[in-house]
Order: sequence, then C-alpha cells, then structure tokens
Amino acid sequence: MKFLRREETDFNPRALPEMLLETLNLLDGDSMILAPGEIPIFITPGIELLGILKDERIQSSELLATIRVVRRTHNQQVGKIDFPRGPIGEGKHELTVKVLPLTKDDLVLVLVSDESEAQRVHDVRRDFVANISHELKTPIGALSLLSEAVLGAKDDPDSVVKFATRMQSEAKRLTDLVQEIINLSRVQDSDPLQLAQEVGVEYLIREAIDQCQITADNRNITVTFSESTTTVVLGDRDQLIMAVHNLIENAINYSPEGTKVSISTHIENGIVNISVTDQGIGISESEQERIFERFYRVDPARSRQTGGTGLGLSIVKHVASKHGGEVTLWSVENVGSTFSLRLPVYDSQTESA
Ligand code: ADP
Repeated sequence: MKFLRREETDFNPRALPEMLLETLNLLDGDSMILAPGEIPIFITPGIELLGILKDERIQSSELLATIRVVRRTHNQQVGKIDFPRGPIGEGKHELTVKVLPLTKDDLVLVLVSDESEAQRVHDVRRDFVANISHELKTPIGALSLLSEAVLGAKDDPDSVVKFATRMQSEAKRLTDLVQEIINLSRVQDSDPLQLAQEVGVEYLIREAIDQCQITADNRNITVTFSESTTTVVLGDRDQLIMAVHNLIENAINYSPEGTKVSISTHIENGIVNISVTDQGIGISESEQERIFERFYRVDPARSRQTGGTGLGLSIVKHVASKHGGEVTLWSVENVGSTFSLRLPVYDSQTESA
C-alpha cells in the first residue's frame, strides 16, 4: 500500500481510518482513494502494475467519467473498462470497477478487479480442449498401429526394431506436444505483470540461444548475437526466454542447413524490438496471419519432421500480449523471415518517480 502526494492536497492521507486501509489491503482486487481533483492519496500496489496511474494521474477517460458521475450523484457506480496492457499490441486488461463515494471529505473509493480475465481464460480453454483432442489423436493412433505391427512381426527382429524406433519417435512427439500444451496453458493462465521481475534483454537472448544450441549444431546453423545491451523489460523471465527460444528454434528449423540466424535489438519510442532473422524458406503473405493460430502449420509434414507442434508461435503471441507488447513479422518466400518480439522497455527511473 502506498500514500501519495501528501503536500498537494489539503487532505492528510494519514488521517484515513487504519481499519479501512487494512480492509482494502485484504481484498482480492486493487483499490485507490481519490481526493477532489482526482488526486490519488492511497493506492494498493496492483494499481501501479495495471498502469491505471501514470505520474499519479488516472489514465482511463472511461474511469474518470465514472468517477465524475459518482461525485455528482453521490451514488456508487459499477462498470467494465478495457485498459491496454502496454503502449502497443492488442493485449488489454478487462477490468470491473466499482466507484463509491466516501462521505467524509469528498473522497472517492475505486475498487478494481480483473474478473473478466478469468472468464476469458475459461472460454479460451474450452476451445483449446477441442483442438487438443484432435491433435493428440494422431500420435496416439500411430502408437496403437505400431504396437500392433510389433506384435505381428515378433518373429522378425529387423521389423521389430524398425517399428519400435518409430514408436519412440511418436512417443517423443507426444511428450513434446504435452509439454507445449502445458506451456501454453501456463502462459494463458498467469498474468506476468502481476508478479513482474526486471529481466535483462541481453540475458534472455543469451539464455534462449543456449537452449537452441544443440538444434543449431545439428543443422550446422550459426546463431549470432553480437550486441551488449543494458535494456531491461518487466515480466516473467521464464516466459520471455521461452518466447525468444521459440522464435530462434523456428528460424533454425525452417532454414536450409549451413545458413545463419542473427538476433539483434533496437529501441524506439520506449519499445525494444528483439528481432530474429533467418535465411530460410520464408512465409507467403497469405499465410503470415494464420501462422500465429494454435496448431496452424504451413507444411504439416515439415513441421512434423522437425518435431513441431504448431503451438510455438501462439505461445510467443500470448507472451508478447500479456507483457503489453506484440510480435511482428516480415517475410519473403525463399529469402527469409524476421520475427520481432516488441516489448515496453522498463525504465526504473520513470516508474519510481
Ligand atoms: P511449429 O511447431 O509447427 O513450428 P509454430 O507455431 O512455431 O509451430 O509455427 C507455425 C508455422 O509457421 C510453422 O509450422 C511454419 O510453417 C511457420 N513458421 C514459423 N516460423 C517460421 C520461420 N522462421 N520461417 C518459415 N516458416 C516459419
């Protein structure tokens, strides 16, 4: 909890009843108390993380309008407001706000909860389960056929080895698929900005490259990142590494052997672009939108060969959007592709000012 701007309002926030503040801190949602002029004098930590306040000013015109209605009518108001998760991208918080007049000193209490997010996650999960069932059927069906083949060939050791080897690769595919499903559902469930950490961009790129090294060596592909940067972003470290990892892994898998994958960063208007460029097969314009959909692959046979699950890019898209960012793509067939993960730069000076 935090008291704000004591000197700029006649009201001394320390005079707020202790019990009220304790209660607000115990609630699941977040809250703030505003003095006349919409000066916040008390806020819970989540308010800052949601980005509702910037330089101690309320950033949502919808919320300001609701507060004005409460000041005028002295009646509480409940409403839903959409609030962007960051300066770019489509990610948004869907907030339920309740604004109440506090009789004393013209104070207004704002209660904020992110319940609608839970509803959305529920809807997404329902669709997802339908897709998964379909995707799981293929390797499970193959395993079942192969086990029959092994039984049928029990007197022919060469065939047993052949079928058992294929069973191993189907089992691996199933394991990878389940792991990606778990990753995606973790990303969809969590709100990385609620328990955000400061993460160095250079660190997350180097970690992601390390994790892709074996795949790169196997395909004789050089992955380069020659910058040193002190840029920091705010969010979930593991999710961010996973997103960059997925982009690098794709760049390797969809490129001819012996080519190069390069990673670079670039900051513009408070956004850091982490770009992964390959000299690979590229993606036609008509497919460029679709590849971010769950389980969509341009060439299912090739994706299958490289152990692809069709979930990698939807994970990247979710991670970007949950962090208030986006993922963009430039690609020309048979020339190559550049995927850019764009994230708001964390500037500790502005945030704590
Ligand atoms: P997959 O597990 O199949 O790689 P993704 O969601 O990561 O799934 O990617 C979806 C599809 O997008 C891939 O199957 C592939 O057709 C295409 N794709 C992704 N990255 C690249 C790339 N760097 N170059 C060319 N095609 C790509």
